[in-house]
Amino acid sequence: MRFCILGSGSSGNAAFLQTEESRILIDAGFSARRLTELLAGIGESIERLDAIFLTHEHGDHSAGLNGLKKYPQLKIFANAATAGALSRTLDRPVAWQIFETGSRFRFRDLTVDAFPVPHDAAEPVGYVFDWGHEGDLLAPRHRLGWLTDLGHLPQQVRERVRGVDLLVLEANYDQQLLAADTKRPWSLKQRISGRHGHLSNQDACAFLAERRTEEPALREVFLAHLSRDCNSLDAVTREFGPLTSPEGSARFRVTPVAPGACTGVLEW
Ligand SMILES: [Zn+2]
Ligand SMILES: [Zn+2]
Repeated sequence: MRFCILGSGSSGNAAFLQTEESRILIDAGFSARRLTELLAGIGESIERLDAIFLTHEHGDHSAGLNGLKKYPQLKIFANAATAGALSRTLDRPVAWQIFETGSRFRFRDLTVDAFPVPHDAAEPVGYVFDWGHEGDLLAPRHRLGWLTDLGHLPQQVRERVRGVDLLVLEANYDQQLLAADTKRPWSLKQRISGRHGHLSNQDACAFLAERRTEEPALREVFLAHLSRDCNSLDAVTREFGPLTSPEGSARFRVTPVAPGACTGVLEW
């Protein structure tokens, strides 16, 4: 497996996952030209991709779609509401692969679980991708959970990501930094921190603290969609540091993804 978050935050989101039989992107929130550069940086190209799985229609997750239409091999997976919302903004039709939210389906060697998350979009989803086989040395079983752009963590969402060994989790803002921010009007702050907005460091950390004892399989956590103004690596370290300290005894590694930066390639 190779996994890399190419970029994360309000200026664009996309991640690359390669398994034995699949090369996919989760979200395509950069222009096709920028995606080409980002993929080249890890020795990949759009031509070699099989599919893109969209979480929702917001531009920071879908901006690449117009430019990606010249790659006919690319299957674009989304639910009907997301595809409908995006179709209105596209200048040429896309050959959508429509799935039903809440369903589990196969794509090549991946089992894909797309489930609803609370966010102010048409029908936003989180994902769990499952592949490989238990006990198989060459193709061991892995599960990747994807949770960004959600205002809170309902019980159903918590259940869906049980047993993942790799988790991408939103840590959008620090509550104090958001409250102190002077650039955003009150109404926008309400939207961000609302039940259908974004997840705070504090919410994400409380969730991981629970998982620490319950989830022996969890090895890697990437904190994603960090706000440039209302979060900082300092704030993240302050919040999550105790969790991963010897006393916090989390067995998983927690890595914040700086806005505008690409993570290294994680190879398992
Ligand atoms: Zn969004
Ligand atoms: Zn977003």
